Amino acid sequence: ETEPLYCIGCGAQIQTTDPAAAGYTPASALEKGLAAGEVYCQRCFRLRHYNEISDVRLTDDDFLKLLTQIGDTDALIVNVIDIFDFSGSIIPGLHRFVGKNPVLLVGNKVDVLPKSVKRGKVRHWLQEQAHAVGLRPLDVLLTSAKSGYELDELLAAIDKYRAGRDVYVVGVTNVGKSTLINQIIKRTTGTQDLITTSRFPGTTLDKIEIPLDDGHQLIDTPGIIHREQMAYYLGPKDLRLVAPQKPIKPKTFQLNSEQTLFLGGLARFDYERGPHTGFTLYLDNNLLVHRTKLSNADDFYDRQAGKLLQPPRPNELADFPPLARIQFTPKVKSDLVFAGLGWITVPAGITVSGWAPEGVAVTMRPALI
Ligand code: GDP
Repeated sequence: ETEPLYCIGCGAQIQTTDPAAAGYTPASALEKGLAAGEVYCQRCFRLRHYNEISDVRLTDDDFLKLLTQIGDTDALIVNVIDIFDFSGSIIPGLHRFVGKNPVLLVGNKVDVLPKSVKRGKVRHWLQEQAHAVGLRPLDVLLTSAKSGYELDELLAAIDKYRAGRDVYVVGVTNVGKSTLINQIIKRTTGTQDLITTSRFPGTTLDKIEIPLDDGHQLIDTPGIIHREQMAYYLGPKDLRLVAPQKPIKPKTFQLNSEQTLFLGGLARFDYERGPHTGFTLYLDNNLLVHRTKLSNADDFYDRQAGKLLQPPRPNELADFPPLARIQFTPKVKSDLVFAGLGWITVPAGITVSGWAPEGVAVTMRPALI
């Protein structure tokens, strides 16, 4: 038994086993740190040496504690979500936690949308979705942390809405929050040193405070990954399927009723009733789509999940939840959205079903295109 070690940057307990959790440091780096008498976790090390923020995962409890503490402050809340995964990236009950604090909603990864998608429609849709879960953002912005799209507008909006207060940036894992913060640091502080602190004693939350010019701070908070996210069920090699790096190329399939499309083994689309017609799929370009007869589909999935239909990979199959089905007959041309994965545009008046791992949302919205 050895004494626990704590990161001198953030106070998290040092561990060498889980790279995504707080306090991680590779064993080799730990040796060097011990020899030098200074042990940093990998995240704080990167921050000190490269001015770069990387991910850390929190437990649900720590996350709730953090949100509650934010509610007690007087600050602007910047909530970053992934426009491909509204239901997976929205923080349940955020409107209650933030109390009276104003919220700026940032829909990130806009670069992944095909050019044909109208930005105004996406903003409007995000606004409606936010209202539906009780969140009343001051404003909705669409950004790309990756390409830098609208980041200057975001900084201007933050400056306007914070009105001399601190800023908390919150978001679940994988929405692109770290990338966004790194961009903000580059744009605002140049070479200025960053400070890591453990502001809330009694927790191991490492928050990053970025000094703003009037003595206030922009505070990056770590995210959690929750079960409503498709990402929760994917191994590291398949995560790119829910975080497309390139603009999506829409693919059209001509289907007869009673045909099924499998989206890898992650989701399924049944065309149940209607005439021969085209369906356009907006999914990561690397996700394999497989067509079968509806009457065969259950059986096919039982036999081929983890084999022909991947992900899940063979070793992940045992922990992969069964697909759950939801049926729609839209009155107008609509998108059937598989949270995190993408969507399929369907014409009005036909009957379709969407399937996704139990807990991952399948929803219908008026078509964005
Ligand atoms: P965090 O967990 O919210 O901090 O997210 P990260 O910043 O680590 O990003 C998660 C994944 O999304 C990474 O693969 C990023 O490269 C990717 N990503 C982040 N921002 C964008 C963006 O604006 N566009 C695209 N296409 N990908 C992004």
